[in-house]
Amino acid sequence: MGISAILNGHTNELLGLNKDISIPRLKVCLRCPLYKKTIVGPICNNKLWLDVKTGKISLEKKDGYKNGCGCRLDAKTTLPNAFCPIGKW
Ligand code: SF4
Repeated sequence: MGISAILNGHTNELLGLNKDISIPRLKVCLRCPLYKKTIVGPICNNKLWLDVKTGKISLEKKDGYKNGCGCRLDAKTTLPNAFCPIGKW
């Protein structure tokens, strides 16, 4: 994700824009093993890898596993062209 997208996402978040997009996405994220609460809001955990087929989690990269993007989800989910790294939205 480029710097302009990051800025757009945070602007959307601050202004409360695109909630029709972000709210359903955040509901999906809440049920995801890569969802992580932090003091700056929820993030997509880039310290974990997920096997999308089995739902197993790993602390290290493995074949077939994908890791989180590390983004702040309250911002990223407002961007129409953003996507979930494991294809959930
Ligand atoms: S963006 Fe995708 S991988 Fe990340 S927490 Fe949300 S659903 Fe999970």
